[in-house]
Amino acid sequence: MAHDSYWEKEIELLPRTELNKLQLERLNTTIERAAHTPFYKTRLGKRNITSLKSLRQVHELPFTTKQDLRDHFPFGFLCVNPKQILRLHSSSGTTGNPTVVFHTRQDIDTWSNIMARCLYMSGARATDVFQNMMGYGLFTGGLGLHYGAEKLGMLTIPIGPGNSKRQIWFMRQFKTTAIHVLPSYALRLAGLLSEMGISPQKDLTLRMAFIGAEPHSREIRLKIEELLQLKAYNSYGLSEMCGPGVAFECQAQSGMHIWEDQFFVEIIDPDSGEVMPDGEQGELVLTTLTREAMPLLRYRTRDLTCIETTPCSCGRTHRRLARIKGRTDDMLIINGVNIFPIQIEQVLMRIPEVGTNYEIHIDKENYMDKLHIWVEIERQVSTGAPHQAEFLQKKIQAELAGEITVNPEVTLVGAYNLQAADGKAVRVFDHRNEENK
Ligand code: AMP
Ligand code: ZN
Repeated sequence: MAHDSYWEKEIELLPRTELNKLQLERLNTTIERAAHTPFYKTRLGKRNITSLKSLRQVHELPFTTKQDLRDHFPFGFLCVNPKQILRLHSSSGTTGNPTVVFHTRQDIDTWSNIMARCLYMSGARATDVFQNMMGYGLFTGGLGLHYGAEKLGMLTIPIGPGNSKRQIWFMRQFKTTAIHVLPSYALRLAGLLSEMGISPQKDLTLRMAFIGAEPHSREIRLKIEELLQLKAYNSYGLSEMCGPGVAFECQAQSGMHIWEDQFFVEIIDPDSGEVMPDGEQGELVLTTLTREAMPLLRYRTRDLTCIETTPCSCGRTHRRLARIKGRTDDMLIINGVNIFPIQIEQVLMRIPEVGTNYEIHIDKENYMDKLHIWVEIERQVSTGAPHQAEFLQKKIQAELAGEITVNPEVTLVGAYNLQAADGKAVRVFDHRNEENK
């Protein structure tokens, strides 16, 4: 696959000075448009901001949070005539109003185009047969990739998630080469293939997977690549910006190019709100640069990442986001120690006997936090001698304690014995406040 072919060569290779010039122009148009919405009218008015002279002034703009979107549900951020809205997407929280994102025709066209840009960048071509295993509906994963894939010209199979036997049947009938799938579901699918005695290498034609929508470690990616015999490309997005298409891996697979002609990127210290230099980890903050229906200024994603500092071998000038480490709101504090679930996943997935799933449970016992990790192991290990399992359990315990400095209790269970969620994986269960409910 040629490394030097691009969907939109000029924009993908735009020199940084020109890219910054374009960003400032688009940012000022966005500010002007946003100032018509009830929310930003007040926020920008208070600060007396109508436009910026330089990108260095971006920190003067107010932040926008998910709570702001909820508080101004449903139309507080809309800045076009409702007649111009073509589609809405919504992500439902567990409490309160959902957040709703509106799109005009131009928004949908731009989104489809950047999605096609992402897919092409990873090496997908019009000759590919694409099976989209993400949910279609209010969730943006299904329709987002779908429109991009059609724009690229791939034969697109809108199968949606679940029903693994049917997925496999379609893969075989239509010689699917590319899939879009949740990392957790990719692993479940691999389990079923092995149970059915189907070899991805001999019996299937898969060559690439686009994985995203949930945090996953590098180790999980490698596992998916090995079990399904393909290359897996990380795809990042969030409904507030559009959905998938915000940042994507190129063939170098070393971080996700974020389209800076579309989004202004900042990394901030989540506590102080201060902007941090490239290379330092913090919360990703994004400003839309072309969105018509619902522009957002300095939206706090709560996703933790950093901007890669080295240029990419593909030549694109748009900077890269490192793999998402977690969210500011999923950090666990266990007896005072800060732990991100992904740290646990990294340790587990480096151990060859560990299978594809795990669960993290936290309880209170005698006023102390207790961490209990359930770990699926490979099929051949579960049928092994009991002392083999005990040895493995101690090994997992010791490796985890070494990484997270908390001593967890580890219970081993057979392959594919843990309940898998229908949508994004749910693997952390914090029971500490349950007795107070
Ligand atoms: P939603 O708007 O419901 O699609 O959820 C978006 C959120 O999913 C993001 O803010 C991230 O927390 C998460 N997410 C999406 N893509 C990825 C990815 N590639 N890696 C890690 N987390 C992701
Ligand atoms: Zn690249």
